[in-house]
Amino acid sequence: MVSAEQTRARILDGRVTADQIKLEVAAEVARWSAERAVKPRLAAVLVGDDDASAVYVRNKVRACAQVGIESDQRRLPASTTTEELLSLIRELNQSEDIDGILIQLPLPGQIDEATIIKAVDPEKDVDAFHPSNVGLLAMGRPRFVPCTPAGIIELLDRNQIGIAGKNACVVGRSQIVGRPVASLLLQRDATVTICHSKTRDLSEVTRQADILVAAIGRPAFIRGNYIKPGAVVIDVGVNKISDVDDARNLFGAEAVKRIAAIEKRGYTLIGDVHPAEADLVAGWRTPVPGGVGLLTVAMLMRNTLQAAKWRRNL
Ligand code: NAP
Repeated sequence: MVSAEQTRARILDGRVTADQIKLEVAAEVARWSAERAVKPRLAAVLVGDDDASAVYVRNKVRACAQVGIESDQRRLPASTTTEELLSLIRELNQSEDIDGILIQLPLPGQIDEATIIKAVDPEKDVDAFHPSNVGLLAMGRPRFVPCTPAGIIELLDRNQIGIAGKNACVVGRSQIVGRPVASLLLQRDATVTICHSKTRDLSEVTRQADILVAAIGRPAFIRGNYIKPGAVVIDVGVNKISDVDDARNLFGAEAVKRIAAIEKRGYTLIGDVHPAEADLVAGWRTPVPGGVGLLTVAMLMRNTLQAAKWRRNL
């Protein structure tokens, strides 16, 4: 927590922590592959032509190259059926060479996402979306931990931000972020409140939180009056804005850079937290970009290494 005189939130830099984790994974992969003449291998499956999904997969494949993990990228057309995707997953499940399987979500509407998630071998399920991995996490005995929530905990730990005994509030209850991050915070002895679209007096609830996690998907939704003075604010949201006046109001000292980005490529990224207002109230804040997203990729690398070790009983 910060003193009353502090006027600007400190930035929790995702890049520093993500780079540390990737260096640790790279060192272990190097040692491991020298001993066994084999490297961990991740299959990354992308269905359709969604631009954002293509960027996410590219970043994950690039991270594999950085840490020495082999990647096997599989691209399928937007017209792919559930059965066709299931057939690829069966092949990847059976392949001795593949340690981890990543199916980039969301999938095109005609594919039944729940069926696909259930079809991935739970021991290769490095995203930890399979019901058995979700169940193990809920029981407090995780096998894999989903990457974004795991990255949030690493970010707190490596910045010496204590969790035990704190009031933590998670806004959002999705399967991939809200619920698992709430589970992890609970396992670390925080007192956890989960909020969603039906929560009454949301700002009253969020203002009690020492650690506030926003995973909503609405640009700058969490305003200054939602934040307890000195709180740690973790912004998971990734949204685009393209209005120059909005950027001027939202980004404070960073506005010039963000307006230049809008003029150059038509948009800039913003999280679920109002950055200029959060800076005046919070003690710590994760930036977007440069925060949680980088941790997500780093934790995927760690889960893939872990899968490779477990598959060989190491
Ligand atoms: P999601 O599945 O759409 O869930 C959004 C959650 O926000 C829902 O639980 C919803 O409540 C809640 N919500 C919506 N409007 C609300 C409101 N007015 N007040 C309170 N709660 C509200 O989203 P998600 O997959 O968790 O993703 C959330 C954001 O994180 C998105 O911007 C996404 O792009 C981003 N994300 C980033 C990363 C990363 O690595 N940085 C990873 C995953 C996701 P209900 O349940 O009641 O509908």
